Amino acid sequence: MKPAYKMLDEQTGRYLPFVYPEELPFWEAARRHELVLQRCDGCGRAWYPIGPACPHCFSTKWDWSRMSGRGTLHNYVVYHKAWTPYFESRVPYAVVQVELEEGPRLTTNLLGCALADIRIGMPVVVDYEEIPGDITLVQFRPAKEQS
Ligand SMILES: [Zn+2]
Repeated sequence: MKPAYKMLDEQTGRYLPFVYPEELPFWEAARRHELVLQRCDGCGRAWYPIGPACPHCFSTKWDWSRMSGRGTLHNYVVYHKAWTPYFESRVPYAVVQVELEEGPRLTTNLLGCALADIRIGMPVVVDYEEIPGDITLVQFRPAKEQS
C-alpha cells in the first residue's frame, strides 16, 4: 500500500481518506481486518489520532498494537444535509464516536443499525468496509448482545 493523497473517487463521487506515510501501518492492518493503534512502551496507553509521541507521557517509544475491537458508543450526530452529491442518497446518516475499551476514541460510522436504535453507551464491535482506492475503513456495528 502506498501513501495516497487523492481525495475524490471519480466513479462514486465519494471522498476518500488521506493516507499519510506515518499512518500506513493503521491502513494496512485495516485491509487485513485488524485494528491497530500506537501503544506507549512507557505508560502502556494507546492513543488516536496517530502521532509521533504518546499524548499521555510524551514518550517517543511506542509500537503498533492490536486493539480488541470492542468499545462503547460515546456520542453521535445525525447529518441531514448532504454536503457533497455522494451523500444525497444517504442522508440522514449518523457519524459516531466510539470509545475503545483500550481508551482511544475513533470517529466512525455504525453499520447495521437504524438511526432510531442508536444509543449512547451501547456496546459496539469493530467491522470493516472496503471502499474504492484499495482502502478499508474501520467501522463499527452493534455488539451481538445488543441485537
Ligand atoms: Zn505514554
